[in-house]
Amino acid sequence: MSLEYNRYLSHTAKELQPSGIRKFFDLAASMEGVISLGVGEPDFVTPWSIREAAILSIEQGFTSYTANPGLLELRQEITSYLGSRFGVDYDPTNQIIVTIGASQAIDLAFRAILNQNDEVLIVEPAFVSYAPLVSIAGGTPIPVATSPENGFKVTAAQIEAAITKKTKAILLCSPNNPTGSTLSKDDLLDIAQVIKKHDLLVVSDEIYAELTYDDTFTSVASIEGMYERTILINGFSKGFAMTGWRLGFLAAPKEFVEVMLKIFQYTTMCAPNMLQHGAIEALRNTYHEVESMRNSYRRRRNYVVQALNQMGLDCHTPGGAFYVFPSIRATGLTSEQFAEELLMQEKVAVVPGHVFGDSGEGYIRCSYASSMSQLQEALKRIKRFIESRGVSPKIEIEECTL
Ligand code: PLP
Repeated sequence: MSLEYNRYLSHTAKELQPSGIRKFFDLAASMEGVISLGVGEPDFVTPWSIREAAILSIEQGFTSYTANPGLLELRQEITSYLGSRFGVDYDPTNQIIVTIGASQAIDLAFRAILNQNDEVLIVEPAFVSYAPLVSIAGGTPIPVATSPENGFKVTAAQIEAAITKKTKAILLCSPNNPTGSTLSKDDLLDIAQVIKKHDLLVVSDEIYAELTYDDTFTSVASIEGMYERTILINGFSKGFAMTGWRLGFLAAPKEFVEVMLKIFQYTTMCAPNMLQHGAIEALRNTYHEVESMRNSYRRRRNYVVQALNQMGLDCHTPGGAFYVFPSIRATGLTSEQFAEELLMQEKVAVVPGHVFGDSGEGYIRCSYASSMSQLQEALKRIKRFIESRGVSPKIEIEECTL
């Protein structure tokens, strides 16, 4: 006899929508000859010295649990990194937790600060995890839509207009996934005024900090008066090409860390010992490799933005991450139709913009973390596809200069 399973499930868990990114990813993986611009991960393998350090740690028998917040040596490296690179000072003994990816750090942050029905402002289009994680923690996600006219940057006025008595925090992500937009120091100074005026917290997802191409990256926590109200999230996945290692970290005032650490102790215990040894090596010795990956992404960004605009899809120039977010309105298709038909007709996988929030409708996300030859082929196919939908190129892509 089978149970009536619905009756047993939590309402919150049942109501979560599966990630729209996965849907296209799975469909593309089941087809032959597909070029995927769908996945949000580096096409580089983790630098060798990081892999070697992890292998060595296994050989040396580092197979036990570590301290709950992570190896002290790694936490020390993290605090020196945050201090020297972004100008924010933390104490490695009580202000850092090494987590299972930035994903877990975001989850911990929401669980630690939210009470039932507290509202969290989510700047959209946004990474798909934020709103579900707010809901799981009992809060209510409130979207704040951005648009290309302002380079997909959120303004202080937009934030202020969305604040209610229930607003507890705002999630900021710069560089942003999916738009690639970045908030400059001046943007953050304006936003900080509103946050301080309304006494809000910030969960600052800085996972793409290393992939900032034009301006220098500014951490929210480095802005005056923000350190005490910011939970800073970062990790190794993107900048160090370590997605599969599942290693991230958070840094925050010790009063927040104490509470997050309790949740972490019970749910996770600690991040894997041997992988933490790899992360120590990443922070000590691989900046030149991070820089060379960054330069390679920058070249690819320039090429893809130029090609998309020339073929007739309006695309703003993202300041960071490895995504472009062109408008597909000229085709008259919805973003879901565009992504589905492009996949079926030309075997190119992209992510429809609406999965990142309602304001993403009319756009697609393309990741340019693919080889130049794959990108060139994908762009030819996209051009052929949009021509079949009546969009004429402004200039031939072959004329694009790199
Ligand atoms: N935050 C953003 C904005 C992301 O794009 C991603 C991954 O795509 C994550 C967090 C999760 O990163 P991690 O692999 O460290 O869990």
